[in-house]
Amino acid sequence: MTLKGKNALVTGGYRGIGKAIALKLASMGANVAVNDIGDIETAADTLSEIRALGVEAEAIQANVAVEEDVQKLFAKFMERFGRIDILINNAGITRDGLLMKMKESDWQAVLDVNLKGVFLCTKAAVRPMMLQKSGSIVNITSVVGITGNAGQANYSASKAGVIGFTKSIAKEIGSKGVRVNAVAPGFIHTKMTEALPEDVKNAYMANIPLKRYGEPEEVAEVVTFLCEERSKYMTGQVLKVDGGMAL
Ligand code: NAP
Repeated sequence: MTLKGKNALVTGGYRGIGKAIALKLASMGANVAVNDIGDIETAADTLSEIRALGVEAEAIQANVAVEEDVQKLFAKFMERFGRIDILINNAGITRDGLLMKMKESDWQAVLDVNLKGVFLCTKAAVRPMMLQKSGSIVNITSVVGITGNAGQANYSASKAGVIGFTKSIAKEIGSKGVRVNAVAPGFIHTKMTEALPEDVKNAYMANIPLKRYGEPEEVAEVVTFLCEERSKYMTGQVLKVDGGMAL
């Protein structure tokens, strides 16, 4: 129970990787609020699974790409939990397509959620964390933010942006006792990847030395490590959880 009594916020936490992170943090003793753009009713299963681990849980609906929503999200979080120890910027979307066919709206939507959302939530969390002189922020990027990927110029750019953002903020606030790291998953079994065509999935598999896709729980293990005391001398790092895909 290395995170007993800590309070965590996981964006995009109703399902997929975010849900796995929320459950892992809770299993280590943290109280967890899951945020999502979807209706709070759709969080019912996630909330009961978190509460079954003996910690407090809350669902807070908000669009991380909208500043007013993010302000309300953090106000509700602070009202409920009193302080924030852990922020996981996990909410993310894709609008894949080749550049020549990519609409400006597809570019903007992905940049707004994946990069601006990380900026807005981090900015909101950093003030209380700096005042309390402790905190851990983990941003979920992607290996394609490192390698690039045909058909994902918007998504890759947003995730590369998250890496630059992570390193910059780590330099800005390390002296205040707040750590900022990133985790870059490869191909993980979630709703985001299940919709991909078979030929695209096969192309990914050909480049994965461990010859299998990852599970959300395997990402959650590494994210949780970055929130624990065990990683207290790490900041500004990008840890790949990708079966060796981006070697
Ligand atoms: P997912 O199953 O699609 O879950 C994403 C979650 O984010 C959903 O619950 C979604 O809500 C929520 N969300 C979307 N837009 C939001 C917004 N504007 N504000 C708040 N919440 C929002 O995706 P995932 O596969 O778990 O991915 C989680 C993170 O890992 C993302 O940042 C993704 O880019 C990254 N990642 C995933 C993979 C992979 O292979 N799966 C690989 C590398 C990186 P709704 O369900 O209501 O839309």
